[in-house]
Amino acid sequence: MDRHQAISDFLAKRHYAAINPVAALIDMDGTLYDSMGHHADAWMKMVSGLGINMPRDEFFRYEGRTGASTINIIFNKAYGRDATQEEIERLYHLKTEYFNSMSAVAPMPGAAQLLDMMQETGMRRVLVTGSGQASLIERLERDFPGAFSPQMMVTSRNVTHGKPHPEPYIRAMQMARVKPSQSIAIENAPLGVKSASAAGAFTIGLTTGPIPGRELKEAGADIVYPSMQALADDFHNLVYDMFNSSLG
Ligand code: MG
Repeated sequence: MDRHQAISDFLAKRHYAAINPVAALIDMDGTLYDSMGHHADAWMKMVSGLGINMPRDEFFRYEGRTGASTINIIFNKAYGRDATQEEIERLYHLKTEYFNSMSAVAPMPGAAQLLDMMQETGMRRVLVTGSGQASLIERLERDFPGAFSPQMMVTSRNVTHGKPHPEPYIRAMQMARVKPSQSIAIENAPLGVKSASAAGAFTIGLTTGPIPGRELKEAGADIVYPSMQALADDFHNLVYDMFNSSLG
């Protein structure tokens, strides 16, 4: 999609006079890390153990939900009821064990470059993840040194409502002390896009998994890139066009 068109559509939709990107609010799974395949595989292994058959792509659509919410969806499809608290705890623990037993997830190509470009332009960077998994959060400092200070991380631990609720992105804006019109969000999942868009950020969708760009647009993405690398390659142009839109 055309950058200029995406920016002017965004300004018209929001009734913002300008977009001045001071902070970048960045999702983790499927955005900074190529981790969604592992998550989908771990879910698939868990449901197969129950004798339930589900298409693997479906788990990419649930991304951003809490473990409990995903397990309830599985149970309602398979058994027509919610899972009990005991079932939720046992099955989520199992899924997490499967995930942790897999090979380490790799940083998404282009992610480190994009984070560096943001720093060079003086943009504040905030992590916005629904994950509470200590293993991945600890790895951030190793893979992207200095990119996110602990005061600039929204995880499942400091929100009441997870994505698609806007709370995680609103918290991120508060941490960075910016208004929605000063925020860009980067997301790969429809529920994450919904959350960022509902919070009022200019929302960049990435098709890093099997979910087509059309679904990200329907969820509220203002522009869609086919990969993190493609966004990094176009990032200076995008920011330049945003600043210029402010003058018009
Ligand atoms: Mg994600």
